[in-house]
Amino acid sequence: MSQQFIIKQARIVNEGRQFTGDVYVSGEVIEKVLEGENLPAEKGWEVVAADGLFLLPGVIDEHVHFREPGLEYKADIFTESRAAVAGGVTSFMEMPNTHPPALTQELLEEKYALAAEKSLANYSFFMGASNDNLVEVLKTDPSRVCGVKVFMGSSTGNILMDDKETLEAIFSKVPMLIATHCEDEETIQNNNTEFFKLQGLKVTASVHPKIRSAEACYLSSSEAVSLARKFGTRLHILHLSTAREMKLFDNDIPLKEKKITAEVCVHHLWFSDKDYPAKGNFIKWNPAVKTEADRLALFDALLDGRLDVVATDHAPHTLEEKQQPYFKAPSGGPMVQHSLTAMLEFVHQKKITVEKVVEKMCHNPAILFGVQKRGFIRPGYAADLVLVDMNKPWEVARSNVFYKCGWSPFEGVRFHAEVQMTFVNGQMVYNRGTINENIRGERLLFSGR
Ligand SMILES: [Zn+2]
Repeated sequence: MSQQFIIKQARIVNEGRQFTGDVYVSGEVIEKVLEGENLPAEKGWEVVAADGLFLLPGVIDEHVHFREPGLEYKADIFTESRAAVAGGVTSFMEMPNTHPPALTQELLEEKYALAAEKSLANYSFFMGASNDNLVEVLKTDPSRVCGVKVFMGSSTGNILMDDKETLEAIFSKVPMLIATHCEDEETIQNNNTEFFKLQGLKVTASVHPKIRSAEACYLSSSEAVSLARKFGTRLHILHLSTAREMKLFDNDIPLKEKKITAEVCVHHLWFSDKDYPAKGNFIKWNPAVKTEADRLALFDALLDGRLDVVATDHAPHTLEEKQQPYFKAPSGGPMVQHSLTAMLEFVHQKKITVEKVVEKMCHNPAILFGVQKRGFIRPGYAADLVLVDMNKPWEVARSNVFYKCGWSPFEGVRFHAEVQMTFVNGQMVYNRGTINENIRGERLLFSGR
């Protein structure tokens, strides 16, 4: 690929509209966007013929677990960033519950160094907060780190914060975005004990939403919201999963001005409790996939603006781990390769528009985190782009999964849209099944908000 090329005659989806046009890419950035059909190509520019394929800004997935360092048997930054670009994801933000967890500035910077060496996509890593590292947390540079992650409830390899005083200190003192996992630990532990007593090892994944209940979610997320209101914290609540929590969020202020924002994950929009009998532990996530009514309420809140962004919580485990009995099988599943195609399937079903998908997966993560010069198809912005064929049906199978764990909760699902090409900083990293493994992404920078 030359350093100057035109993506010609694409159906460009950007900032609430779609139009046919040409996008000029020079080096790492978009030089200009021309609207119109049959435009002449300027001399000296290589042409990538899009011929009506949809051109979207690359997806920014602001919630992934790539398992490195320490859990590389499940996944690593190289393998999962390959899967990301194959799915049209050009930037990711990764969580601190690795081994060791990112609880000091030094450990955090080690992850950035690993990514610089290994990541095909652009990257950022959350700083972790625990019961005893406030001093380290306060050293975090908001222009170079996406946020601080707080686990208000246990999860895989977690760094649980259950000390009320520390929680208040974090909410009152941290001047940057705090992202929270909200599930009330005590409620979960009580439910756990009860179900284990009742049914022992016969329990299947269908009880998961009863153990990690809607009540546990509401108790914790409402506490986070009230703390944030009290201290004026910039709070971002992750993976909302219930109808009841939706009343905690506003849709009458622009995203740029919101102090409290909300994420929904693809699996909570796609699956519901009726899928447990067929999928079992393969859809065991924390927070749990809940009822169909919850799923529909999340979808409504996404459309009306109470939910701001769609992410994946991509959290792979091996097949062997997921095939254990319910109580032993870890929560989480791989998703980053299929998030965009799954959301575009909802477009095919006429449940959401493609413009809205782009808003929730590309524009809003950029606005919400203040990501510099990404997330939009604009002159001067990084050429992070994805070309999609909206009507090229294909079926998810283990043979076409790029995750190191080698499986997907979508196996057997037929998607209508297929990612054709992905560009990261003006470099073609994915082209119809082939990945250019030599390409490396960049560290995301933030202008604050
Ligand atoms: Zn997560």
